[in-house]
Amino acid sequence: MRTLALEGGRPVRPDFLVFGRPLIGEEEIAEVVDTLRSGWIGYGPKSIRFEEDFAAYTRAPHALSMNSATAALHLALIGAGVGPGDEVITTPLTFTATANVIAHVGAKPVFVDVEERTQNIDVSRIERAITPRTKAILPVHMCGWPCDMNAIQAIAKRHGLVVIEDAAHASETWYEGRKVGSISDYTAFSFYATKNMTTAEGGMLTMSENAAFDRIKALRLHGLDKDAWKRYSPGGFLPYETLEPGWKYNMTDVQASMGLHQLARLEANLLVRQDIWRAYDAAFAGLDGVTTPQVRDHGQTRHARHLYTLRIEAEDFGCDRMQFIRALGAENIGSGIHFVPLHLHRWHREHHGTGRGDFPVAEAIGDTTVSLPLSAAMTAEDTKDVIDAVKKIAAHYRSNPVAVPGWREAEHREAA
Ligand SMILES: *Cc1c(COP(=O)(O)O)cnc(C)c1O
Repeated sequence: MRTLALEGGRPVRPDFLVFGRPLIGEEEIAEVVDTLRSGWIGYGPKSIRFEEDFAAYTRAPHALSMNSATAALHLALIGAGVGPGDEVITTPLTFTATANVIAHVGAKPVFVDVEERTQNIDVSRIERAITPRTKAILPVHMCGWPCDMNAIQAIAKRHGLVVIEDAAHASETWYEGRKVGSISDYTAFSFYATKNMTTAEGGMLTMSENAAFDRIKALRLHGLDKDAWKRYSPGGFLPYETLEPGWKYNMTDVQASMGLHQLARLEANLLVRQDIWRAYDAAFAGLDGVTTPQVRDHGQTRHARHLYTLRIEAEDFGCDRMQFIRALGAENIGSGIHFVPLHLHRWHREHHGTGRGDFPVAEAIGDTTVSLPLSAAMTAEDTKDVIDAVKKIAAHYRSNPVAVPGWREAEHREAA
């Protein structure tokens, strides 16, 4: 058996494979340079073209570019009329921003546990969490797999709630013949550096005809009635006034220069990640203590393949998830954890009285999940290295287990 790099052996590759490496083409580089030389680098014609292209791609009536998905979610909550004292139902298995924005508007995040197979909010538990204060449901398409939107829309309709989708993982996702972005009143996309398409930092809010488009457009730029591009446009400077105090959440044409070409290559990049996904599935299917993703494209429902996650069950694998991640890192393979459930984070424990035991399915996933590199920038060699490293580590701990019964509680005590 090969010696683990963690124990002094040779790593499977000499250089570190970064998790979430973006694929930046010459088109993006040329477009950014063109913008830098153009005389206008702020929000302007390229941002507007990017919004039009993105709206066409998602089949959404409206799209407003932002400086992040976090900003898009924040303004969606304001547009939906969510404010102090209100409650918003969401999943604990998400990035912290999903719940932070709920707190930003003075509302309370109310978590509902997830489904084991899809890792998405368990729609059968949503109605029990609704109170007279509930204003909105904020589902997250975990890893790029769509939530059960028919059920969520039906619940929202019955109780008069707004639906705001966190589609940070789901730029390419289709749900039963509908493109994510065209389903609910508000849908937020992320173009952060590690996401399926990137503008380094950036986001987009798509909206239905029912959404507060004009108000959100103003709130995105200080609450002004005209954006800077219009104020300085040919024909001379136009005066402007503040409608209400807004935020500084706009995108710039430098970012949109990347976004235009990232969007044009999005479908081609998905095909590359689908191939990596299939190679991972085939390679890891028979490994003891390893569970591969359990969702499959069907009909007109399509996974965006943002995150490929394994679940490492210590008793069967031979070591726990954190040890696996350390061993993987030593082999020069980057990885991630998506996510440590939010109800276990200090702020939620202290402010909402949440804790271990509240959402057992999210906790079981959070304790065992590890995300492997999944990027269109990966070469066939990179994919082979990841597979090689996982198999090497699995073989080692199968013969030399370090897992102790009750490891999960031990990990919890460490974290507390
Ligand atoms: C990345 C991410 C966000 C935040 O996106 P930003 O563009 O960085 O603000 C929100 N929700 C989820 C689920 C994410 O993964």
